[in-house]
Amino acid sequence: MSSQPPTFLVLGAGVIGLTSALSLRDQYPSSPITILATHFPGDRSINYTSPWAGANWCSFAHDNGPLESYDRTTFHKFSEIVDKYPEAGIRRMPIWAVFEARLEETGILTEETGKVWYEELAGLRDLTEEEVASCGGLEEGVEGFGWAYEKAFTVNTQVYLNWLQNRALSKGINTVRRTYPSIKAALLDFPSTTLLVNATGLGSLTLEDVKDTTMYPTRGQTVLVSEPKVPIPRMYIRSPGRLDPTTTYVFPRPFGGGVILGGSRQEGDWSAEPDMQLAKEIMERCCKLCPALGRPEDLQIVSHNVGLRPSRKEGTRVEREKKSEWGGVSVVHCYGHSGAGYQSSWGSAERVVELVGKALEAGVK
Ligand code: FAD
Repeated sequence: MSSQPPTFLVLGAGVIGLTSALSLRDQYPSSPITILATHFPGDRSINYTSPWAGANWCSFAHDNGPLESYDRTTFHKFSEIVDKYPEAGIRRMPIWAVFEARLEETGILTEETGKVWYEELAGLRDLTEEEVASCGGLEEGVEGFGWAYEKAFTVNTQVYLNWLQNRALSKGINTVRRTYPSIKAALLDFPSTTLLVNATGLGSLTLEDVKDTTMYPTRGQTVLVSEPKVPIPRMYIRSPGRLDPTTTYVFPRPFGGGVILGGSRQEGDWSAEPDMQLAKEIMERCCKLCPALGRPEDLQIVSHNVGLRPSRKEGTRVEREKKSEWGGVSVVHCYGHSGAGYQSSWGSAERVVELVGKALEAGVK
C-alpha cells in the first residue's frame, strides 16, 4: 500500500453522502475527501430527497441484523450530537403511536423481531386508555393499542443538513457541484482517487455503470404548518401497521421548523406535484390525531411538500464493488435507505468506513 493517505470521492450530498464523508474524515484525518453532487443543502428538487423528510428517529428495523444495528448506532450518535451540538437541529422528543390493529397484524416489533432491544433503547411503554383516547381513540370494533417511545428524536432537516455540510467544510472536505452520468466519468475527472462512495440515492437507478433497476421511488407527501401557540410536546403517529400507506404523523420540528403533517407512501409514483385532495385528508387525519393542532381550516400552511424515498427491493445496499471500467478503484455503495435515511445514517456510514478499511487492507491502489 502507498504511504500517501488514501484519497476519497463521495458522490452525493444528501444525508447519506454528508454523513459518510464526515465518518471517513474521523477515520482518515489527513485524507483528501471531495463530495461531488448535483444538489447540496439549501437546494429544493424532487431529485433530492433529504430536505423533504419528516424527520424523526423511530426505528422500524425488524431484521435482528444490519438495519437494527444502523438504527442503534445512529440513536447513540444523535444523543451525542444533541448533547454536544444543540445548534445541529436535532432534539429529543417522545412519540405517542396508536396502532389500529393487533400487534401480530402490524408487522412492527415483536419479541422475535427486536422489541427487546427497542424497549431498552427507546424506553417503550404501553399507552394508557386515556392516552390513546387523547389521540383520537380507536374506532368502535377496532382492536388496537398504543405505545409511547419515551426516547426518540425529531430533526429539522434544513438546519441539520446545513450543519452537516458546514461541519464537512470546517474539516477540510471539499465540495464540487457537478452532475455525472456515471461513476467512471467522476473517476476520470479525479484520477488520483483511491476509493469512491456512491451515495446517490435514487440516482443509482440512472448512473450508467450502476443502473440498479431494483430501485424505485416511494412518494411521500406532507404539509408544513406553523407551530400552534401552545407548543406540541411530542410526536404522534397513527398507523394500521408497519409501512402502511395511510400512516398519519405529526412531527414538531425544533428551531422554528414548524410542524410536519404526514403522510403517504405511494410506491413507484414519480409525481412531484402535490395532490391537494391528499393534503386535505392529511390535515384532517392529523388534527384528529393531535387535537392541539386545532381545526384543519385554522392551520397556517407554510408549504405542501413532496419527496421520493429512495426504495430498493432488497433493502438498503451498503456493499463494496469493483468493476474493470473503474480502473481498479473500489466503490462502496451506500444507497436505498427508503424511509429510514436519517435514522440509519450514522450506522450505515460506520459500515461504509469498515468496508473502506477492508478495501485498503486488501491493497486497493
Ligand atoms: P438524497 O437526499 O436524494 O441525495 C442524493 C444525492 O446524490 C444528492 O446530492 C444528488 O444531487 C446526488 N446525485 C444523484 N445522482 C447524481 C449524479 N448522477 N451526479 C451527481 N450527483 C448525483 N427518514 C428518516 O430516517 N426518518 C423520517 O422520519 C423520514 N421521513 C421521511 C418523510 C418523507 C416524506 C420522505 C420523502 C422521506 C423521509 N425519510 C425519513 C427518508 C429520508 O429522507 C431518505 O432516506 C434520505 O433522505 C435519503 O438520503 P440520500 O442521501 O440517500 O438521498
